[in-house]
Amino acid sequence: MILESLLPLAYLTSAVCFIVGLKMMSSPRTAVRGNLIGAVGMALAIGAACFDRGVASHALIAGSLAIGAVIGWILAVRVQMTGMPQMVALLNGLGGAASTLVAWSDLLRGSSHPVDTLIAVGTTGLIGTVTFWGSLVAYAKLEELKGFREPFSLPGQQVINAMLVIACCGLTGVLASTHETSVQISCYIGIVVLSTVLGVFLVNPIGGADMPVVISLMNSYSGLAGAATGFVIDNNGLIISGSLVGASGVILTRIMCKAMNRSLFNVLFGVMGGGKAGGPTDAIYATVRSTSAEDVASILDGAQRVVVVPGYGMAVAQAQHAVRDLAKLLEAKGTTVEYAIHPVAGRMPGHMNVLLAEADIAYDKLKEMDEINPTLETVDVAIVLGANDVVNPLAKTDPNSPIAGMPIIEVDKCRTVVVIKRSLSPGFAKIPNPLFAAPNALLLYADAQKALLDIVKAIKELG
Ligand code: NDP
Repeated sequence: MILESLLPLAYLTSAVCFIVGLKMMSSPRTAVRGNLIGAVGMALAIGAACFDRGVASHALIAGSLAIGAVIGWILAVRVQMTGMPQMVALLNGLGGAASTLVAWSDLLRGSSHPVDTLIAVGTTGLIGTVTFWGSLVAYAKLEELKGFREPFSLPGQQVINAMLVIACCGLTGVLASTHETSVQISCYIGIVVLSTVLGVFLVNPIGGADMPVVISLMNSYSGLAGAATGFVIDNNGLIISGSLVGASGVILTRIMCKAMNRSLFNVLFGVMGGGKAGGPTDAIYATVRSTSAEDVASILDGAQRVVVVPGYGMAVAQAQHAVRDLAKLLEAKGTTVEYAIHPVAGRMPGHMNVLLAEADIAYDKLKEMDEINPTLETVDVAIVLGANDVVNPLAKTDPNSPIAGMPIIEVDKCRTVVVIKRSLSPGFAKIPNPLFAAPNALLLYADAQKALLDIVKAIKELG
């Protein structure tokens, strides 16, 4: 009984932990501690929930936690850095599914729910199910599974989607206005079925290049579903943490839209990936000049200021440690080495920051796009390391390009640009990149890690 009266205090403490943790995560110096404080808050919230009056079986909770922990551990250990967006999509989806199931089980308990709780039940069914199916479709698109590679929409798709939302709201109204459990259950099943269709219809027309934004939005939805579930089971911890996830997901979505120069409306309802390929590839690449590790070593040897632009290829090659070794070598010779970070480089927000931090590269050397762009004219050598779309000048010059208007790292302004990649294959947006054929660009065809190791070796040989 005493423990139960302490529950609100426990939820309040966990909410404070979440907020402090989030605040600390906004700086790399305090992020690890912030993460830990957030985890402590979550452990406290879970522990407090176990003392709730409504808990039917502690053994069932312990068993589920153990199974979930084992699966989560295996997935987290096995996932490749390049597969993180898919993993996040699955986690968001499972959050939505959990909310849907909790609301469902609460409904099954009987008909003594007040109207506001029943409205929360319907809302949870709608948002939770949309999150689950929308996230699964996003996962399938990122994995490029058959049937999901191309965006697909029906004629009048937006009208159909609007009608599905209205139908779900109508069913929620019926659910909240009756005391008949069987009618309530039928309504809930109806909401879940319609929301399933809605979740698929909402994400299916969106192209793969916009999936990061969709995943961030689904993250926000999963938080909102959790908050709605908190109203269903009267759990303050869930309401607060769900609202925090919902709000932070929206903020991240806005940041990503800005980085891709897209409005959220345009991402959700515009057809992405339908732009022209940017001209015949052979003509664009006619003047590409290739280079060798030895030549790059000579160029770097005389450079005063070098900027590395990491991209998805650095993650694939796991070249972050090799780039640190190259930077140390150059710095020992008096060269300034910095890193230009594009907000959507790689395959998840903060992807490059995480990899470079893993290699112990000092955070103050990582420069955001807006900060470094105005200074690029004074850079002797830019090393474009497995990046492609984020340095593609077509974003500025071709209004028909799928990445038109996306801000880029303007390496074309640097005196020399060394592009390290294995071939002339396109990046995520599947368009050619005229930068590779620019008069000041040199292509080093190689795996990013191997190329860097060869350059380091060649610089050492130069003495
Ligand atoms: P890109 O996907 O545009 O290009 C990556 C390049 O890396 C490819 O051209 C590839 O060329 C090269 N590469 C692959 N493997 C290696 C390797 N082992 N060694 C060297 N190079 C390699 O990457 P960017 O980072 O420039 O751009 C990110 C793109 O992903 C953007 O379009 C963004 O919108 C999108 N996106 C971003 C997400 C995010 O949140 N950050 C999430 C999902 C998508 P080659 O095969 O010739 O080697």
